[in-house]
Amino acid sequence: MATLQPPRGTHDLIGEDQRRHTRVVETARRIAATYGCDEWSTPIFEDTRVFARTLGETSDVVTKEMYTFADRGGDNLTLRPENTAGVCRALVTNGLTQSLPQKVFYAGPMFRYERPQKGRYRQFHQIGIELIGPAEPLADAEAIACGRDILAALGIANETVLEINTLGDRPSRDAYRAALVDYFSAHRAALSAESQDRLDRNPLRILDSKDPADRALVADAPTILPHLTADAARHWDRLREHLARFGVAFTENPRIVRGLDYYSHTAFEFVTTRLGAQGTVMAGGRYDGLVAEMGGPPTPAIGWAAGIERLGMLLAEPPPAPAGIAVIPADEPGEAAALDILQQLRAAGLRAEMAYRGNLKRRLERANKTGARAAILVGGDEMTRGVAQVKNLVTGTQAEVPLAELVAAVS
Ligand code: ATP
Ligand code: MG
Repeated sequence: MATLQPPRGTHDLIGEDQRRHTRVVETARRIAATYGCDEWSTPIFEDTRVFARTLGETSDVVTKEMYTFADRGGDNLTLRPENTAGVCRALVTNGLTQSLPQKVFYAGPMFRYERPQKGRYRQFHQIGIELIGPAEPLADAEAIACGRDILAALGIANETVLEINTLGDRPSRDAYRAALVDYFSAHRAALSAESQDRLDRNPLRILDSKDPADRALVADAPTILPHLTADAARHWDRLREHLARFGVAFTENPRIVRGLDYYSHTAFEFVTTRLGAQGTVMAGGRYDGLVAEMGGPPTPAIGWAAGIERLGMLLAEPPPAPAGIAVIPADEPGEAAALDILQQLRAAGLRAEMAYRGNLKRRLERANKTGARAAILVGGDEMTRGVAQVKNLVTGTQAEVPLAELVAAVS
């Protein structure tokens, strides 16, 4: 039989890859908690309507990227391509729409049928936060500051820049959409086929196009700023004031849009030049319309999601492999004592292993090979004297230590 491969666009997380992944998740979880976020886990698959309705009929995700299937009972399900819709669905299902704000952190796998390349996979992983309830621009600033703090704690804040934009409120956006349609219609023939289609369905999405011809036109396209209502302009001003107060550096990029219909006001991305075309590591915005689309009351909210693989690739130093303690019986009578020591070390929370077979020399070789930082050797003679030999495998020094002091000696 041919060797089975993982499905295209998926990958196994082993060794350094898993350690990078774990570092990102644990760091984000810790920082999000300092902002008052609680972790939620929602199902990996949902009723297809959770995404089809909320992500909008014209988004890339819905039109080409979803893993959708009928299960054996005939239910139409989709592997989640992102988690914001699931969190909003969960807010409504669990009757939390009157218990606001809800500040949510999540981490987990997402699925999109995309062309795999570096930093772009079919199963990938995201961390994210959602601040559900507040309409105030302070919440937008906090969500962004939280993202910045996570990047800083990962040591990669200097690898990224923050770009922010406003999508205004509904009246601002309607006026802006009309201005965009005017502008792009005058250049219709020069647009990519996809953007010609967007021009009819969702012209804002053209600003997000990766097509080189489109990008040239986008560069000269009108911005939303002259179309902002007084309310929308105030939200935009406050956001930038709060960011300055939080010490979050940003640049304004009028081309940033979140493709989906439910976004308003703030849109932002943390981007890097180090990952080629896959330069966006964290992206988010305000989605005041989404909870209502899930059947809840109108509920303002802001959030972001970040790709764990992309963040992991930016880590300068891969987290080191764990270095434990090897317990080695020097002879047969030492074996019972070795097992006792093993248990004591583990009870103290230390990583401790004893090889299942092999003589003293073999076991020492293996301890060195697996990167153990210390070896504890105990034989019949040591046992009767109530001591063990502790060998520091980094420096090579060895010392005799009373059994009662062993844990302290290797902690
Ligand atoms: P892109 O423009 O790269 O396709 P997107 O706008 O589709 O990104 P979002 O839906 O905003 O991405 O997801 C937030 C983040 O999740 C992205 O910034 C990226 O870091 C990560 N991400 C999105 N799709 C993938 C993927 N297929 N593989 C790996 N990471 C991804
Ligand atoms: Mg995408």
